[in-house]
Amino acid sequence: MKRPIAGLMALSLFVAITGYMPKASAYQVYKCNGKTIKWPSSKIPVRMRSASVSFPSGAWRNALLEAVNSWNRNPSKFSFSLTYNDSSVRRQNGQNEIWFTSDDSLLNGAPARAFLRWRCPNLTEADIVFDNRVSYTTSTSKTLLWPYGGRNRPFQTTAMHELGHASGLRHENRYYNIMGQDWDHIHANASTARAYAGEDASHGSVFLYGVRSPQRQDVAVVHWKRSGSSGEYSTHRRTQMYNSSGSLLSSFTSSGEPVYRVNKGQRVQVEFTYENNGASTQRPRVGFYISTNNLITTFDTKIADVGFTLVRNTPYTAKNSVTIPSNLTPGRYYIGAIVDNNNRIGEIHESNNATYIAIQVN
Ligand SMILES: [Zn+2]
Repeated sequence: MKRPIAGLMALSLFVAITGYMPKASAYQVYKCNGKTIKWPSSKIPVRMRSASVSFPSGAWRNALLEAVNSWNRNPSKFSFSLTYNDSSVRRQNGQNEIWFTSDDSLLNGAPARAFLRWRCPNLTEADIVFDNRVSYTTSTSKTLLWPYGGRNRPFQTTAMHELGHASGLRHENRYYNIMGQDWDHIHANASTARAYAGEDASHGSVFLYGVRSPQRQDVAVVHWKRSGSSGEYSTHRRTQMYNSSGSLLSSFTSSGEPVYRVNKGQRVQVEFTYENNGASTQRPRVGFYISTNNLITTFDTKIADVGFTLVRNTPYTAKNSVTIPSNLTPGRYYIGAIVDNNNRIGEIHESNNATYIAIQVN
């Protein structure tokens, strides 16, 4: 089933949108008269005001704050601040506001939209609306979420997509990224899945606003990758497993997730997407592990260890060879990847360094 994806409508009383789409670099930004549209430094942090009715104290407010905080770990000088209890929200009032609505004249069929105004080349207003009829959840419990076979659209991924627009980023369809299809741009380890900005959007934010000082570093690994594009959006799917000659291994779905069939002692290739969401090029070690559960830690059994060079540009989806231990009792296991498994990089976010793929060992 094709699901609706988050939309954007960019409006300006002063300029028309141009069709400029840079070809060589990652991310996409807005342009007016050949200039890049962004917030002037005097407006950063950009204050976003949440509506009192839509975001009373509690789960929805906390989820919105979680999305803002996740954006605020980006390596650029850009950040948001979030205020509460705005009792009068509307477009074109000079304030940046966030609210839930069922107004189809605003939503135009999208589950959420961002509205931007600018006075070339400076952004002057960003408003975000969410459709209150969408099956959003604020839960980070994986089994509730669309990307893991659940019934709910993760609110935080959609919020981060719209906040990305509010920071000056356009849709991007060439890479695994939050400005493409947002709901399966997510990091999971064990039963928790959390939204994050990701490498491409972090790179774009640095392009727009420069690197923050002191520098922030962050590397990550996820079991998602780009699968294609749908209009302006990248589409994503789970990373996969292959035999030693590169053919896809057979798999089945269990609890909404793929499980690959492997044999004891088999040499296989395991695929993950590695990201550098930080300021500087990193050369982390990446360890691969066998685990009896989907919580991947360095206490699991290491089966391979390789060196990676991760430049901040676009996410890196790679296959690595590992051998399934021949002493395993047949049954369900997980192959884990841990980036910076020797913990040499001081990171602003250490909880996105490990993820898994399920296997059924024969
Ligand atoms: Zn969008």
